[in-house]
Amino acid sequence: MDGNLVVEAFASTRVVLGHIPVTRALPVRGRRMVGPWCFLDRFGPLTFAEGKPMDVAPHPHIGLQTVTWLLDGEIVHDDSLGCEAVARPGGVNVMTAGQGIAHTEQTPDGNSHRLDGVQLWVALPDAVRNGASSFAAVGEVPVVEQAGGLARVFAGAYGGAVSAAPHFSPLTGVDFEVHAGAGLEAGLEPGFEHALVLLRGDAALEGQELSAEQLYYLGPGRASVALRSRGGGRVLLIGGAPFGEKILMWWNFVARRPEEIAAARADWEERRRFGEVAAYRGERLAAPELARLVGR
Ligand code: MN
Repeated sequence: MDGNLVVEAFASTRVVLGHIPVTRALPVRGRRMVGPWCFLDRFGPLTFAEGKPMDVAPHPHIGLQTVTWLLDGEIVHDDSLGCEAVARPGGVNVMTAGQGIAHTEQTPDGNSHRLDGVQLWVALPDAVRNGASSFAAVGEVPVVEQAGGLARVFAGAYGGAVSAAPHFSPLTGVDFEVHAGAGLEAGLEPGFEHALVLLRGDAALEGQELSAEQLYYLGPGRASVALRSRGGGRVLLIGGAPFGEKILMWWNFVARRPEEIAAARADWEERRRFGEVAAYRGERLAAPELARLVGR
């Protein structure tokens, strides 16, 4: 345990995505990225009798990957490449936007009436960020059993396991399940920076009780971190080599320069570049006014 190294806590913000309240753990004031991870929305847990709590109409992305990881429930993805896949617990959906893609995310028909999960974004390095778009659905991610619990590896590598989803810079994404009354030592890559978010139950990080409303940042130089749980808990770990490029994030775009954002926005509004999500019945999302880029 590297107990002398600092843990920094950052308060999450509350936003509404469609009809769903979301806890946004990244980006937040004071912490914009963790390795290449640049966005982390936590939705649920929620139960519903009818309808589609998740119904995000067609919208574009550039320069990033979306990573959808569920603890419970289902989300169906459709995109402008014609790919369709239902994300379920234990699997991961990864969409690589590259130079541009449009997609929808909805609660499917015939669902479990539950929804609980996260969506993360990974910034693409400059060398590949204007490349082809693609989509990968991984049905079952690797699970590493270890003392005190288990690790579901939904992105990159952990504990000798590697997720099948494609990524373009060194990173890790793990959902730890810490058993009730147990301690678990999470191995870390010392060259990475990391962050932890409590997803379920209770957990303490080196004796500090975790709040679900905070992101806990760990700087590089750690080889492990000790987690404990009284009643059992789920803890998300993200990490990666510090991203050596300054990104510009606006709406659903990750770029480097304002003119790239403006061009992507114009292409979406003029129905260029991104294509159509043919599977979706309904209007697509309109881009916000570009003036909101100023001052961010
Ligand atoms: Mn999206």
